[in-house]
Order: sequence, then C-alpha cells, then structure tokens
Amino acid sequence: MNKTFSLFKGLRFEAYQCPKCKKKFFSEKQATNIARTIDALRLKEKYPRQIVAIGHSRGLTLPKDIVEFFGLDRKGAKVVIVPNIAKKTIELRTD
Ligand SMILES: [Zn+2]
Repeated sequence: MNKTFSLFKGLRFEAYQCPKCKKKFFSEKQATNIARTIDALRLKEKYPRQIVAIGHSRGLTLPKDIVEFFGLDRKGAKVVIVPNIAKKTIELRTD
C-alpha cells in the first residue's frame, strides 16, 4: 500500500492506495480522524449564552453541538472549570 490523499468537502485526508488497482483505503485511525474532522465542521466559533440563576449559583446550558461533540451526553460526564484571571476567560475542560 502506498500513502496518498483523498479529497472530501474540500478537505485533504491521508489514505492508502493499492499500487495495482489504485483503490483507496482508510485505516481505522485515518477513518476516525476523518469522522472527527467532519463532525467538528458543524461547531460554531462562538456560542453566546445567558447566565441563569440556580439558587445561589449561576448556571448556563450547553449547546447540543458541544454536548454531542465532546460526549457530554454520557452518564456521569464531567467538566472542569478553569478560570484564567489574566485572560478574563473561563475554560471548560473535558476528559
Ligand atoms: Zn488492489
């Protein structure tokens, strides 16, 4: 098998090509990378959210796209809130 590239939706993905019949193949790793890249295309750059009051805490809802992409719909899913005072950002880290 020779290494080659395959174009899909304007993106270039690594593939293998049979030197005899010229058929292209994807390894499991390559296919996983393609699926993840295509999946990420639907994510927006920003998701503005309204902060909601939940007792003395404040909360926000996570968009469906984000929940699905990061697998947060699984039971017991957790995130870690990481404040960055210098950057004035609050990062949500997933496992
Ligand atoms: Zn072949």
